Amino acid sequence: MQNDLATPVQYLKGVGPYAAKILRHVGINTIADLIYYFPRDWEDRGNIITISKIVRGNDCLIKGNIMQVWQDRTKKGFTLIKALVKDETSSVKAVWFNQQFLKKLFDNKIGSKILIAGKAEMNPYSGNLEITVKDYELLTDDSEIAKIVAKYPLTDGLYQKKIRNLIGHAIKNHLDKIKDPLPDYLMENYNLIPLKNAINGIHFPKDTQDIEFSRKRLAFDEFFMQQICMAIRRKEIREEADGISLDINNNAIAFFEKTLPFKLTSAQKRVIDALVSDMKNKKSMNRLIQGDVGSGKTIVAVFAAYAAVQCGYQAALMAPTEILAQQHFLKISSFLQKMNIRIEMLTGGMKKNEKEEVKRRILKNGPCVIVGTHALIQEGMNFSNLGLVIVDEQHRFGVSARAKLKQKGKNPELLVMTATPIPRTLSLTLYGDLDKSIIDEMPPGRTPVITRFVEEKNRLPLYGFMRKEIEAGRQAYVVCPMIEESEKMDLAAAKDTCEKLKKIFPEMKIGLLHGKMKSKEKEAVMDQFKKNLINILVSTTVIEVGIDVPNASIMLIEHSERFGLSALHQLRGRIGRGSDQSYCFLAGNLKTQESKARIRIMIETNDGFKIAEADLRLRGPGEILGLRQSGIPEFKVADIIMDEEILKDARKSAFSVILNDPMLGKKEHQKLKQEIINKFSNFLEEGSFN
Ligand code: ADP
Ligand code: MG
Repeated sequence: MQNDLATPVQYLKGVGPYAAKILRHVGINTIADLIYYFPRDWEDRGNIITISKIVRGNDCLIKGNIMQVWQDRTKKGFTLIKALVKDETSSVKAVWFNQQFLKKLFDNKIGSKILIAGKAEMNPYSGNLEITVKDYELLTDDSEIAKIVAKYPLTDGLYQKKIRNLIGHAIKNHLDKIKDPLPDYLMENYNLIPLKNAINGIHFPKDTQDIEFSRKRLAFDEFFMQQICMAIRRKEIREEADGISLDINNNAIAFFEKTLPFKLTSAQKRVIDALVSDMKNKKSMNRLIQGDVGSGKTIVAVFAAYAAVQCGYQAALMAPTEILAQQHFLKISSFLQKMNIRIEMLTGGMKKNEKEEVKRRILKNGPCVIVGTHALIQEGMNFSNLGLVIVDEQHRFGVSARAKLKQKGKNPELLVMTATPIPRTLSLTLYGDLDKSIIDEMPPGRTPVITRFVEEKNRLPLYGFMRKEIEAGRQAYVVCPMIEESEKMDLAAAKDTCEKLKKIFPEMKIGLLHGKMKSKEKEAVMDQFKKNLINILVSTTVIEVGIDVPNASIMLIEHSERFGLSALHQLRGRIGRGSDQSYCFLAGNLKTQESKARIRIMIETNDGFKIAEADLRLRGPGEILGLRQSGIPEFKVADIIMDEEILKDARKSAFSVILNDPMLGKKEHQKLKQEIINKFSNFLEEGSFN
């Protein structure tokens, strides 16, 4: 079916092949793209000043008559168009760069009124103030000056005026083809304006209230469509054929706890109770566990795996990277070995015959725990009796991985863990279809870590402080950053640091840990560190997360500007585990505003959820946590933090729509259904509506 809105943009009046090419640079291919190319900001045109009031260095908005126009050239060969503009108080030159075509246009407009927005700057040759034009509008006498004007993201060769005109044109001729997918009753309930009005209002608002209502409607739609998908997935999970019901012994928790070197926190117990009742139930479990770094999520997952194996099933844990898989393997092995439970590891990086051997054992040897990467969901990987699937950091896998792993069994139980805390709003959009448990309590005996930034000039006092603490019996980590794409340089940096520290602390034992070491070597070093035979452990980030040494109370992170916030938070989570006061020192070169902001946040708070929220603010949801791979559509208008209220409304209404009309069969939902099928089908399982 030919849809006019899908017409390539060059068929629009005013768009030649050249303009079409420029528009493609900003992602505009069709007329619909143009209509949905939303402004990033709006300019208030209520503040026109007289030319005599222009201040050098300031942005200004003036209105006057074009008196004279001429063309000029810069030394570097750029074309300049200049116009002398005069109002009742004074006159000023306005300057346009590289827009030769304006000469002819303005030649015909001598004497006409023009509105100019730009920056007042001093011409170094003439010594006169000139306005570098950012935007302008030729006014006919009766033309009304728009009070508020949209400002769009631009690219080379694309000007505000051009894009605004094109959008205006597209809206005038094609807006009526847009179908409003929301049923009337929802618009009434949530006080939303019609979609066409919202699109028009965001591009050509009458006033700020118009912007607000338009934004609200558009943001609501973005959240709503996504939550409809969540609601549908949720419904599908509910309707799934019965899964397995694990016959978990009532004493299992008590027995499990006895093998641990600590008592479970009440938060852990609460989450384990929820898991047990999910797993005993005939319906499959679909649960997300969230918790800050160090809150003890792993042990809860280990319990689930233990319970599955006790009931005669295999349990598979999938992590997004080789390194994380190895870390889980190390962490979990120590618990499971005590209980005589076999554990296997399978990653893509293993040798082929090694992999084959592991696969063979998995098929042959019955109940066990298998830790791995994507390798677990590949073809040719089979389990003998998969009863539980645990997915770590599932958003990094993309939407389908969870389902693929589940298909390796017959409706196994599913447990999803987040390794990094994520803000509540983001969790609603990422995991909106799962039941949730939060471990909101830290194991006892932890003291909040004190975090400081160290300037280079304070290195010696810092080393002095480290020496004092180490002499008092503590231990220290020194972390060197991962240099992407080069494990070799990575290693060199760590070795350098190690040599340097040996000179500074000649009396101390200094150990080195890096990704290239064999597992046996790593284990030996870690073992020595645990026994306090190593005072300072230099490490690349590769392996540190597997370590748990409560006596280590100092961490120095080199080049901290190279780490993201959540990585810094993860690292810092290695200290502050004992009863002594712990200190985290961040060294580095803070060149960018963003790196400064990151360090400030680290100093201010230890709360992983707050840090995650700040991370989201700094980097945006697209960047955070490798979210791009998730398949979740990005929001153009909605702001995951600021629009939390809209998200809540959208979620509530989406879930109630699907509850009342699961197949979207009702008349008032037809346009909605069509929209979902058109735009979100790859977000849903095949055949959701038939
Ligand atoms: P997470 O995966 O949530 O970051 P872990 O599961 O690795 O945290 O737990 C962090 C550390 O705390 C581990 O060394 C673990 O053995 C320990 N731990 C977990 N639960 C408790 C508890 N209830 N009491 C004391 N220590 C605990
Ligand atoms: Mg069950």
